[in-house]
Amino acid sequence: MLTTRPRGTNDFLPNQVEKWQFIENQVRQLCAKWGYREIRTPIFEHTELFLRSVGETTDIVEKEMYSFEDKGFRHMTLRPEGTAGTVRAFLENKLYAQPQPTKLYYMGPMFRYDQPQAGRYRQFHQFGIEVFGVSDASIDAEVIALATTFFKTLGLNALTTKINTVGCSNCRPAHQEALRQYFSAHKAELCPTCLGRLAKNPLRILDCKNESCRKAAQNAPTTIEAACDDCRNHFEQLKSYLDGMNITYQVDTNLVRGLDYYTRTAFEVVINSVGSAQNAICGGGRYNSLLAQCGGEDMPGIGMAIGLERLLLTLEEQQIDLNFEVYPQVYIASLGEAAKKESFLLAMDLRNQGIYTEIDYLDRSLKAQMKGADRMQVKFTVIIGEEEIDKRQVQVREMSTSEQITVSIDELTHFLKERL
Ligand code: AMP
Repeated sequence: MLTTRPRGTNDFLPNQVEKWQFIENQVRQLCAKWGYREIRTPIFEHTELFLRSVGETTDIVEKEMYSFEDKGFRHMTLRPEGTAGTVRAFLENKLYAQPQPTKLYYMGPMFRYDQPQAGRYRQFHQFGIEVFGVSDASIDAEVIALATTFFKTLGLNALTTKINTVGCSNCRPAHQEALRQYFSAHKAELCPTCLGRLAKNPLRILDCKNESCRKAAQNAPTTIEAACDDCRNHFEQLKSYLDGMNITYQVDTNLVRGLDYYTRTAFEVVINSVGSAQNAICGGGRYNSLLAQCGGEDMPGIGMAIGLERLLLTLEEQQIDLNFEVYPQVYIASLGEAAKKESFLLAMDLRNQGIYTEIDYLDRSLKAQMKGADRMQVKFTVIIGEEEIDKRQVQVREMSTSEQITVSIDELTHFLKERL
């Protein structure tokens, strides 16, 4: 127990963290160029926020939240996604009073009590963006383009962008009613959860992963059939912007996504590899009513989130190498107590000068230290013995040529800086 991590969580060891840092740097660079600024919100929020925003009939709220009562008897939940907290922060900090739009991004851990498997975890990480204050379809296209550009920059291929329009407060009620009628005739095929959804929110049935529910949903009235003129126009505009950028997409009329707050545009980027159950790498959509629903300004918003674990898994599957192991530039081998002290001080000096330096901490033999230096693929090994200390000199060995020369200790930093 004490040496086992909780199910569905991961340890990222240093060589994996280097890949994460690379991805995070790519995110920061891309967002800076597209005008998105980082926001950091709490890891936990009041449970009520997720009930109101994500929706009470979603899988997340029904089954997957890590909720707890704190010592002051308040109901709290570890954030299962990033939009709700960002919307809350936008409203609480009155960012709506600033000139719009507000373009934000976030990165960090999310928590869902999911059934763990490859690509599905209980603590996972997302990079997401949110834009507030724009109704125009150009921003829907920009959000989708940012995701596809990010994947392209990393060299990913075999991805499909799926888009749909899920309606708005005008056309959704009629669609919900049509769905209710349709699924009432298919009750025998629905899972117990979807039977419950039939009365409360039949749109959710389209998102059920259960095989029998999926079959039942095949001929259900689609959101596009039900869309009002404004939703239909918005969707046409979005498609024309995507066409203009040569972004290929598929219209998937059953795509409703697992969150209730979406209006109009919903989209997903999926990996084409066969048999991969966890194939969604990015999901997003527009949420024009969410801010008002959370008790704030009636302002439109849109966002998307990319699952970073799935992204890294896909990079691995597609054999895209992100190997960023950084090796020390210099190793200082020492022999004897006085030399060891000198090596320590020299290493500090070199590090302060920006040279990545390693030393021996374990009193190993000179031979073992040289072997270690070799394994670390350093460029130079500095060798100090008692005799060298007396003369204030060291031996510097260039590892690629095995050439060895004597350098005065006072000159060492300058000497190495010149050659690295
Ligand atoms: P969502 O917030 O459900 O729209 O999900 C957005 C993205 O987050 C998905 O496309 C996945 O890449 C990722 N994701 C969602 N749930 C999990 C999970 N349990 N484990 C790992 N990644 C996840």
